[in-house]
Amino acid sequence: MTRQRELGRGEKVLPGLWRLRLPLPWPGVPHGNAWAIAAGSGVVLVDTGMHEAGSLAQLERALDQVNLRLEHVRLVVCTHAHSDHWGQAAPICERAGCEMWMHPNHQHATRSAGDPAAALARRLEVARQSGVPEQALQQYAERAKEIPSGIARVVEPDRDLVPGVVVETDLGPWEVYETPGHAPSHICLFQPERRLLISGDHLLGRISLFYDYGWTPDPAGEFLRSLDIVDELDARLCLAGHGRPFFDVHGHVEGNRKLVAQRVGAVLGSLDGHARTAVEIAPEVYGEALRPGNAAWWLSETLCYLRHLELKGRVRAQDGEPKRWTAA
Ligand SMILES: [Zn+2]
Ligand SMILES: [Zn+2]
Repeated sequence: MTRQRELGRGEKVLPGLWRLRLPLPWPGVPHGNAWAIAAGSGVVLVDTGMHEAGSLAQLERALDQVNLRLEHVRLVVCTHAHSDHWGQAAPICERAGCEMWMHPNHQHATRSAGDPAAALARRLEVARQSGVPEQALQQYAERAKEIPSGIARVVEPDRDLVPGVVVETDLGPWEVYETPGHAPSHICLFQPERRLLISGDHLLGRISLFYDYGWTPDPAGEFLRSLDIVDELDARLCLAGHGRPFFDVHGHVEGNRKLVAQRVGAVLGSLDGHARTAVEIAPEVYGEALRPGNAAWWLSETLCYLRHLELKGRVRAQDGEPKRWTAA
């Protein structure tokens, strides 16, 4: 199905803060946001959009609509190392002659992008252990080779974006909060006087859960702890990585907690008296059969819940392949 691609667009959110809406090639996720914040003679750019043919021109188009240019960027800050938030960091920093700051736990992206064959092999092994049949694995491997990385060039941060680091802007200083879960490198930025939160993909207007599986001990548990951290900030306005800015930040935190609890409950429910593979469990969690388009996402999310429950002593993995899980 061909779809009319969106164009980059810029709009003012507040005096000195602009939303840059950048097109994405993904079904169901038509665009992502970057944020320009006035800072002295230029702007701080939070997130970059993903790299693909013509993507830098889309960013320039969005900037132009709010009378900004790439050369105005004094600093690039990435909320996390996913391609749609970090993929264009290299060409932007090159053009603007500026630094890029990001959290140091970026190996989930930098290592995969540095060796895509090894990353694919690891994903296939996880899928095999989850009970994905051999033929489906081969089809996935074929398709995966076609999917572009969305990353112009792997760049590591000039400065580690960790708590204590402050991003200075004309709207005041922004504090860094570590919010792993969606990705190990995820941080949120908070401007306390104005109670503004730049949430990346940790909180989205439309609740959508995604975890990077396999890099940290308990992504779902980390995500829940990150929700607590953000909830405590009592932000007034949330500027998320996709979709429009929204108020009622606490309501969105609650919505995420509820959905996680519901899915964790569904994983437990599916193990009622049976030993099952992740492939058998996932359709019960989502109420739908796995399809090539959703299987990778849903399986890694299901594995994160199994891991979360295993650490709590609620489920146990049996020996053997594929891996079967039982209630403990
Ligand atoms: Zn992301
Ligand atoms: Zn994103």
